[in-house]
Amino acid sequence: MFSNKDRFKEAFLKRLESMCGKGFEESTKRDQYHTLGNMIREYISSKWIGTNELYRSENKKQVYYLSIEFLLGRLLGQNLLNLGIKDMVEEGLSELDIRLSEIEECEPDPALGNGGLGRLAACFLDSLATLNLPGHGYGIRYKHGLFDQKIVDGYQVELPEQWLRHGNVWEVRKPDEAVEISFWGTIETNYANNGLSFKHVGAEKVLAVPYDMPVVGYHVDTVNTLRLWNAEPSSFGPNQDVLSYKRDTEAITDFLYPDDTHDEGKILRLKQQYFLVSSSIQRIIASYKKENQNVRELHHSVAIHINDTHPALAVPELMRILIDVEGLTWDEAWDVTTNTLSYTNHTILSEALEKWPIYLFKPLLPRIFMIIEEINERFCAELWDRYPGEWERIEHMAIIAHDLVKMAHLAIVGSSSINGVAKIHSDILKNREMKSFYEIYPHKFNNKTNGITHRRWLLKANPELTELIKEAIGDEWVKQPEKLLDLKRHVYNPALKEQFAAVKRKRKEILAKKIADKNGIIVDIDSIFDVQVKRLHAYKRQLLNVLHIMYLYNRIKEDPKYTIQPRTFIFGAKASPTYYYAKKVIKLIHSLAEKVNNDPRVSQVIKVVFMENYRVSLAEDIFPAADVSEQISTASKEASGTGNMKFMMNGALTVGTLDGANIEIMEAIGKENIFTFGLTAGEVLKYEENGRYRSMEYYHHDLRIRQVVDQLTNGFYAEDEGEFGAIADSLLVQNDQYFVLRDFASYIDVQEKVGTAYQHTDNWLEQALINISHSGYFSSDRTIREYAENIWNIEPVGVRM
Ligand SMILES: *Cc1c(COP(=O)(O)O)cnc(C)c1O
Repeated sequence: MFSNKDRFKEAFLKRLESMCGKGFEESTKRDQYHTLGNMIREYISSKWIGTNELYRSENKKQVYYLSIEFLLGRLLGQNLLNLGIKDMVEEGLSELDIRLSEIEECEPDPALGNGGLGRLAACFLDSLATLNLPGHGYGIRYKHGLFDQKIVDGYQVELPEQWLRHGNVWEVRKPDEAVEISFWGTIETNYANNGLSFKHVGAEKVLAVPYDMPVVGYHVDTVNTLRLWNAEPSSFGPNQDVLSYKRDTEAITDFLYPDDTHDEGKILRLKQQYFLVSSSIQRIIASYKKENQNVRELHHSVAIHINDTHPALAVPELMRILIDVEGLTWDEAWDVTTNTLSYTNHTILSEALEKWPIYLFKPLLPRIFMIIEEINERFCAELWDRYPGEWERIEHMAIIAHDLVKMAHLAIVGSSSINGVAKIHSDILKNREMKSFYEIYPHKFNNKTNGITHRRWLLKANPELTELIKEAIGDEWVKQPEKLLDLKRHVYNPALKEQFAAVKRKRKEILAKKIADKNGIIVDIDSIFDVQVKRLHAYKRQLLNVLHIMYLYNRIKEDPKYTIQPRTFIFGAKASPTYYYAKKVIKLIHSLAEKVNNDPRVSQVIKVVFMENYRVSLAEDIFPAADVSEQISTASKEASGTGNMKFMMNGALTVGTLDGANIEIMEAIGKENIFTFGLTAGEVLKYEENGRYRSMEYYHHDLRIRQVVDQLTNGFYAEDEGEFGAIADSLLVQNDQYFVLRDFASYIDVQEKVGTAYQHTDNWLEQALINISHSGYFSSDRTIREYAENIWNIEPVGVRM
């Protein structure tokens, strides 16, 4: 049906009628989307089955990537592209007077993630399949993904996301592979002749039903699986309140927690975590046992990865199954468990480190808690041998202390590998945050700098730039992204620069039209598109960006002769619904936009745009249009960042601190091709140690700072003078935890350099092309190869084509 255009057209029309019960003329765009989606899933299925058969017959080691989030983005366009049938389908549809892009718009973004962490998991799936690596994602099928953001009067309002409302064409429900999960109840300990045995009695059972989605590799036959678990009622007991049991059960997978890098500490969240881990590990063991005899050798065939601490209960759950179900001794089970599991740390922000109070944990997961206690006792005994008498150190490292279960410690002790996500982040883990663990397990610690899939963030998002690069250097880089380096020889070619400028301009026009449609703001295509899109968080310092614009406003108003290169400041960010400060920053951006965009003179040179509901599909329109990438987190706080890589790959220049992967971007492209500013991580950490920073001094000594900070509370940006009081307080009363005022002057200076640099068009274009040419290193293909070789020990299976 996809062998040629005419066959496709015929099959499409026939399927449309049979599926929707109407003729082509009456069909809606959504009918057409569902028809096409179903046809493609069917087309994928033979490759999918083939891949699974191959994995069974070759019986090579496989990896299971456990993640509480997968921020996939739309799949129709990506699947067409990866299958190599996009052009044919697009042409066939256009002969029916249908535009593929309009059909794509009917697909809701599967937004089963908050931001970077979930998006990384999605990029990894794409790379695993494309590299023919046997690797699968295991996650949760949230009924409601991340909330939809509406802006009302400048305030964020959250609406429930409804991606499943019209069904999901990509998923296949597998009720035969459902498993039971036990919560609550008590543990009976029995002394049998061969030792202790444990029985979980009076548990509340929940059924975990898998929904599988295909993960299609790019131009290969491999189709891996993303398995998402749905919670459903198990068998009903005789004396149960059926309705409330059904409601409580289904609540487990009802919604994604909308907190990014913040630990909520709610019992439903803990239920979600155990639900994911228990269902996944039960199935992994069951499918292992179909092909293999001896669970003592599990780690030779299976690697299980823990993406951040949310799935860290994999440690005690695997122990439970090996001991209670498979009958291994503790030592045998511990050997298998630690050799099977590996863990990625994503943050060092203390508010993000998960700690569960025992009073919540123990009643919900009684057997799991017993096992964690045993792990902790054995671990502390080892520490005691090593550090006799140093009880403070031992208390600090313990898995359970002060009535809290520390999930990061559990993951570290129970895994064979612990990795950070950028060099600086991994170094901070080794030398500071996890230093005491590094001292006893130096061999476990390593770095895997994050990456992004260039198939979504370049080939799919920016076909215009993709074509241009292919014209310049051919298409080897598509399969081997590091070959983008070939572009470096052409960077000074005037024709290429001109063509790149034309591509950038076209993409800016497309975004400008979206901005006009959605925001009613007309932006200048010749202005610098200066973009900060990411979750709203104090450490990411959207506020620094805002204060700079407030300063520019003042400067332009006060000095009629002041001229600058026109700029359009574009923001996109969701704030956690309970994050008061973050929501105030969103309001402030809107108040600022109101003032700037409506001032007859200021609006000639600067505009401020907040794009509502930032998500993957919107991101795909934004990155290709950006001239400047704002990566301005307080040094040491952003573990890696991946937005920075998407911008780079699309030829934007970075304004950034020496934080996360910004540093490695700088090392790749050279200092002269990036605009860095601000405190270094070392300087920030020193301030934090010695407590010598006084934000008030910067407020008093820099008139520019005083003016903008005063404007937060003197009625300039809000009639209600208390509106932005919390923001002003964060800077002055709370001594500016993220060093916004400390880095202000440095940021203003570097932004002035950006404005000047943009006017040297040739040079700017060269720098943009240099950024693109070095972006191949930041493909997640490189990252995944490193995981495969150094952590998981897996190899490609059955490479064909
Ligand atoms: C890449 C991406 C992120 C992560 O951006 P950072 O700048 O690294 O924080 C968040 N949300 C979406 C939709 C993304 O595509």
